Amino acid sequence: MITAKSIEEVMSAVKIEDVIEDFVNLKRKGTNYTGLCPFHDEKTPSFAVSPSKGIFKCFGCGKGGSALNFIMEHESMSYTEAIRYLANKYRIELVETQQTQEEKEAKELSDSLYILNDFARQHYQDQLFNTDEGRSVGLSYFKERGYLESTIKSFGLGYAPNTKDGFTQAALKKQFKEEHLKLLGLTTRSDNDFFRSRVMFSIHNLSGKVVALAGRIMTNDKNQPKYINSPESEIYIKHKILYGIYQAKTAIRKEDECILVEGYTDVITLHQGGIQNVVASSGTALNKEQVKLIKRFTQNIKLIYDGDPAGINAALRGLDIILEEDMNIRLVLLPDKEDPDSFFKKQGTEKFLQFLKEQEKDFILFKADYLLQFAGQDPIKRVEVFKEIIQSIAKVADHMKRHTYINLCSNLMKMDEQILISEVAKVIDQNLKNKRVQENRDRIRAGKVEAAKADFEKNVQYEDDMPVLPLTTRLTGDEYQERDLARILICGCDKPYSEESGITIGEYLLTNIEDSLDSFENPLYKKVFIIALESMQKKEMLNPHTFVHHTDNEISILAIDFLSTPYALAKWDERNIFLQTQKLPDENFPRDAYQAIMRFKLKKIGKIIEQTQKNLSQQSEMDEEDKKLELRVLIQMQKERNEIAKMLNNVILP
Ligand SMILES: [Zn+2]
Repeated sequence: MITAKSIEEVMSAVKIEDVIEDFVNLKRKGTNYTGLCPFHDEKTPSFAVSPSKGIFKCFGCGKGGSALNFIMEHESMSYTEAIRYLANKYRIELVETQQTQEEKEAKELSDSLYILNDFARQHYQDQLFNTDEGRSVGLSYFKERGYLESTIKSFGLGYAPNTKDGFTQAALKKQFKEEHLKLLGLTTRSDNDFFRSRVMFSIHNLSGKVVALAGRIMTNDKNQPKYINSPESEIYIKHKILYGIYQAKTAIRKEDECILVEGYTDVITLHQGGIQNVVASSGTALNKEQVKLIKRFTQNIKLIYDGDPAGINAALRGLDIILEEDMNIRLVLLPDKEDPDSFFKKQGTEKFLQFLKEQEKDFILFKADYLLQFAGQDPIKRVEVFKEIIQSIAKVADHMKRHTYINLCSNLMKMDEQILISEVAKVIDQNLKNKRVQENRDRIRAGKVEAAKADFEKNVQYEDDMPVLPLTTRLTGDEYQERDLARILICGCDKPYSEESGITIGEYLLTNIEDSLDSFENPLYKKVFIIALESMQKKEMLNPHTFVHHTDNEISILAIDFLSTPYALAKWDERNIFLQTQKLPDENFPRDAYQAIMRFKLKKIGKIIEQTQKNLSQQSEMDEEDKKLELRVLIQMQKERNEIAKMLNNVILP
């Protein structure tokens, strides 16, 4: 573990323009720099770097963040890897907390295992190119498949000849330990080579190290499996690995899409054919860890399947995990009896890509369509299908997207949209309740409130167009405004409102909202304000901890939620009032507090106006005097509304 002090030292040395200039040509423009965005293809620069704020932002694709985020994203590094990279760049020596003996040993073991696996890869490649058996059996097999020598080398392909212990002896001669050979499964318990008479594939992790090997049989022995793999080990955890990810990661980011196929040879064939954003889940059903791995590079997954029903059925059930990760999934079915490898060879790159484009289907719609076909007119089966589809839609993280699906599926399933909406909402509520309760219990129990906050600060993003609200909450009416006020109060209560006034954000909000507390619609957000008021009346210091450690579990959960979710504001585009999205927390709390109060008032006035207008139009036999009074209220309110709207606009568009 790198010490916090070291990390701080690195971060304070970093100049964002220096860091980015290693990858992007930057031109000075006022106090900022611009250049061509490295994350999407463009001809005119929309990529900006602000040295004073220490952030970059692309106005084309929306990517943005700190120097650290840039390195993580651009170089596909983890947080720690990126810190090490920056430390190296600025020649800062990192201080690491003492490793325990156990940690040290684990590190040494995995290092030696990587070296051994790499030796094996090299050995089998040697056999492939430099022995008669290798050339006549292995190399001719790969050549038949059309693989170029460069492809064979970059994917670490090889050949394991039909010898009893040729590899094992070679490894022992190089001083590799017998126990390590067995640990990696390269040597059997009876001291023989594990891979014999097989063409060999190397399986790399994200950073390009060989974590496992796989062999495809070359004889006609029906008693042996077609493919065998290294067993899981300290360095190979099957469900965390995607075949081809090392070779594909750059292309996946560039194309902003990951193509998922089933076999090693599918990956290699497509890659050689110029379609390089392709990986395989190799043998396991796609799982959450693998989806997360893909998500580091793109939100878009395209699955290519051969069209046999048994396979599709199994696959469809597992795919909800992709939806949960807020990924977009599209599906392409190949013609009967074709796999990507064979089909690509018949079609060539261009036609193949064209086919993908024409045949791709949205996953949920495909699923609904497909299952309904099977259910036919059987009412019981149809109900099952509805339930299944509702479960899938409920997993869609983005609420706009979710709504589109509801709309499309209600047509497809000939089901009333309102019913569908409420069914989906029920499932979401239930899922959430289960998840939230569990997570927050865990967090609070573990006393990890601080950790959750630190994690948030580390991952804070500066996107202008953040996802609106946690998908979890479906807010209506005034709750947007109320939620925003509660968020600012909880997160910013102890921050100064302004130098001159000498009051805090909390005091500012409370003095402005105290009179309107009764008009809060959401009881939870109202409670937040009451707690703050009480604490202030008792002359206690109000800060986020007041809420986080509150005995009311609901309040504590809400506070943790606010503090650990990247800042996200509702889009205030109703009534054409566009507001800035909050950027750096400390910089914006006062302005946010001011705007939130204004918006809250605006909404309330809007309601009064609406009610007054309704009164006026409905009661034709109203007393003249009453009518006049109502009208006067209306005019006064409209005037006030316009003034507030103007003030808001002034703040927004200076
Ligand atoms: Zn961009």
